Amino acid sequence: MPADLLAHAHEAKGFMPEDEGAALHRIARERLRHGPVLEVGTYCGKSAIYLGGAAREIGGVVFTVDHHRGSEENQAGWEHHDPSVVDAELGKMDTLGQFRRNIARAGLEDQVVAIVGASTTVSAHWNTPLSLLFIDGGHGEQPATDDYEGWAHHVMPGGLLAIHDVFPDPADGGRPPYERIYLPALESGDFTEVEAVGSLRVLRRG
Ligand code: SAH
Ligand code: MG
Repeated sequence: MPADLLAHAHEAKGFMPEDEGAALHRIARERLRHGPVLEVGTYCGKSAIYLGGAAREIGGVVFTVDHHRGSEENQAGWEHHDPSVVDAELGKMDTLGQFRRNIARAGLEDQVVAIVGASTTVSAHWNTPLSLLFIDGGHGEQPATDDYEGWAHHVMPGGLLAIHDVFPDPADGGRPPYERIYLPALESGDFTEVEAVGSLRVLRRG
């Protein structure tokens, strides 16, 4: 990961440890020549900088989907709430402005394309095979199930499915990414695990 981009990734608010971000950057570099990368769960663009950095180096495009209203766990009163990403007039979270600023600062506006909307709405109309799908959206049962069912089948043969916040041990964190995305992907027989870094799991479609 180029040093300038790493600095921008560090500065951006978000939930992506450097070693896991570096893994995303590396697998995006491997895959981008085969087709677009799509991320579910943009937040302020931290992980998108790692993915977009790969596109700047080798070409290609990264789409990133988010309604920018926050997950359940980002709302006021919850563990991951940050009052600086609330639209005061609407009283709703709004991470789109920070995302745009972070991507512009990083010089990645040509590589990282925001899709603003609910994951299920976008996935229902999506029709382009993905070289790499990175799922890091809502971590409740329903959003995790929806993201698996709506997006995983768009991964092209030989493509990768990366899943964030996979915790096989309940003591380490919430269950839905593990139970509703990771396990069903393996049990489908369509994917095999190729890598694990922290809570990031990378599966390849056979
Ligand atoms: N990848 C980010 C973190 C994503 S946090 C990083 O590197 O920091 C999860 C994001 O998923 C939140 O921004 C939230 O708004 C989004 N999200 C949750 N449920 C969603 C849904 N159903 N549709 C679209 N986005 C959703
Ligand atoms: Mg995450």
